[in-house]
Amino acid sequence: MSLPLSREACVAKDAADPLAFARSRFDLPEGVIYLDGNSLGALPRATAQRVAELVQNAWGQGLIRSWNSANWITAPQRVGAMIAQLIGADADEVIVADSTSINLFKGISAALALRPDRRVIVTEPGNFPTDLYMLQGLKSLRPDLDIRIVARDQIEAALDEAVAVLCLTHVHYKSGEMFDMARLAAAAHAKGALVLFDLSHSAGAVEVDLNGAEVDFAIGCGYKYLNGGPGAPAFIFAARRHHAQMRQPLSGWMGHARPFDFVDDYAPATGMAQFLSGTPAILGLAALEAGLATFDGQTLKALREKSVLLSETFIALVETKLPGVFGMASPRNPAHRGSQVSLTHPHGYEIMANLIAQGVIGDFRAPDHLRFGFTPLYLRFQDVYDATEHLSAIMQAESWRAPQFATRAAVT
Ligand SMILES: *Cc1c(COP(=O)(O)O)cnc(C)c1O
Repeated sequence: MSLPLSREACVAKDAADPLAFARSRFDLPEGVIYLDGNSLGALPRATAQRVAELVQNAWGQGLIRSWNSANWITAPQRVGAMIAQLIGADADEVIVADSTSINLFKGISAALALRPDRRVIVTEPGNFPTDLYMLQGLKSLRPDLDIRIVARDQIEAALDEAVAVLCLTHVHYKSGEMFDMARLAAAAHAKGALVLFDLSHSAGAVEVDLNGAEVDFAIGCGYKYLNGGPGAPAFIFAARRHHAQMRQPLSGWMGHARPFDFVDDYAPATGMAQFLSGTPAILGLAALEAGLATFDGQTLKALREKSVLLSETFIALVETKLPGVFGMASPRNPAHRGSQVSLTHPHGYEIMANLIAQGVIGDFRAPDHLRFGFTPLYLRFQDVYDATEHLSAIMQAESWRAPQFATRAAVT
């Protein structure tokens, strides 16, 4: 693997990039190098018009008729089927609903109900906070549950016949470290446990094969690599083998077998529709659909190859230009890393604030992580090169010491 380590080599690499056409599908601001598509995907060019049309026509003119005439009612399934293609699932195994946090609650509850004689949930310390918080909330309703929090390298050893469900995030939000999904699913199944993976930092960024790995449940965000826009609705997957038996407790009317019968007693819909609780967020679904269309004509394999090359180039350039200046919080082996690189520095916050002021947008995660996401759909090798030039200049001039970079914003 030869990496482009000069600006000329990066420009040449971009000129030869078979995925370069996808960049024109995005509306990227002039003068910005966007390295935060892992937190909020960039705006697709098609989104504004699509949402505006929906507002003017389907909502403005069609009014309530559009639930039928504009197929609003089937949007969660339709958009779920688009996501299914990116995560190795069948079209009818994924549905779009609610937020990732809520879907975690529903998915874990459904998994627990499939293992009624077990009460242990295994997860890791430092998992994404909402995943841990939702488990804690679930335990407040089910005090009999035992949430077993074990270090990453102890997980397989912690699986035994008491475990109902293993709940993990596939690519770690902070370090970018990626679990071996198939191996952990097999280890859980060997003890009779089920597995739920959070794909928030995986979907659309790394190759995911849920059915190949025999995963039971999965959830993930619409607004990160899937480009659905801020607060986009999330998705949930359940393997078809569970559809007949599974039950989730947020039994709202939209998950009823016949919502428009308006009967008093709940009866779950068959299949993924049961995971709908309330009315689907149609504006958000339209934006998510436009976000997913940016993947048309691409393969995850090619995207992943480019993402690895982008991140390897970034690491090599940082190590060459700034030897020993940053710690490396991400695995050095790209096979164990998602589509992000996290550097550490005691003044990480100020350095990132200085970078952002120069139009190089990454983010900061306490206490000392500078996070750089590499979105292969719209990022060029020359962007990676230029970002490291900015970083190098900032470190050399120590411009991050300027007082305006020390004040912390509400969202980092
Ligand atoms: C971003 C992220 C979430 C976000 O959940 P929301 O309900 O959308 O706020 C959840 N889990 C992981 C692992 C994430 O990275």
